[in-house]
Amino acid sequence: IKYSDAIFTQSAPSIRQCPADSGAEVAFAGRSNAGKSSAINTLCQNHKLARTSKTPGRTQLINFFALSDNQHLVDLPGYGFAKVPLAMKKEWEKHLSEYLAERQCLKGLILLMDVRHPMQEFDTMMLNWAIEGEMPVHILLTKADKLKKGPAQNTLLKVRKHLKDAKVDDLVSAQLFSSLKKTGIKELENTLDNWLRI
Ligand code: GDP
Repeated sequence: IKYSDAIFTQSAPSIRQCPADSGAEVAFAGRSNAGKSSAINTLCQNHKLARTSKTPGRTQLINFFALSDNQHLVDLPGYGFAKVPLAMKKEWEKHLSEYLAERQCLKGLILLMDVRHPMQEFDTMMLNWAIEGEMPVHILLTKADKLKKGPAQNTLLKVRKHLKDAKVDDLVSAQLFSSLKKTGIKELENTLDNWLRI
C-alpha cells in the first residue's frame, strides 16, 4: 500500500455519521499531544494531511483518509485536554467504545502513547475496549527521540512484558516510533499492510 497516496475524504462529527461501514479501515487514537497528527503525516509523507495544531475543547471531528476506494485510515479525536468538560469526555468515551465495538470494517487500532509516559488511564481504557471486542491493537511509543536508545528500548520491553503478563500479546503489539527522526515507519507500514489487506 502506498501511504503517500492518502487523501483526506471527509470529517464526521460523530461515529454515527461515519461513511458506509465497508472495505477495510484502521483507526489512530491517542491522548492529545501524543504525536498522532505527526505520525499520520510522517507515514503519509504529507505534512498537511492531519492538522498538527488543534484547539482544546472545540468540537472534535473524526477524519477519514482514503488509500484506495475501500481502504481508509481514520484519525479519531484526541483525548485528554483538561479543558474539556466531563460530560463531553463521557460522550467521547461512549462514541469511541461504540465505534470499536460496532464498526465491522475496522481491522485494527493504532494506539499512540508518548514513550515518556505510556499506559495512562485513557490508553488502558482504549486497550480494554479493543481487547473485549478482540480488535487487534498496535501501540506506537511516539517521540522515541526524546529518550536515549537504552531507556527507549527499556520502555518498549516493559510495555511488551505488561502485554505478555496480561496474556494479550497475541492481540496487542508495540514498537518505538519517531516522527522527528523518521524511525519505525517500515514497522508501522507492515502492520497496516496486514490489517488493510482485502
Ligand atoms: P497530537 O495531538 O497527538 O496530534 O500530537 P501532534 O502530532 O500535534 O504533536 C504534539 C507535539 O509533539 C507537537 O509539538 C509535535 O511537534 C511534537 N512531536 C510529535 N511527534 C514528535 C516526535 O517524533 N519527536 C518529537 N521530539 N516531537 C514530536
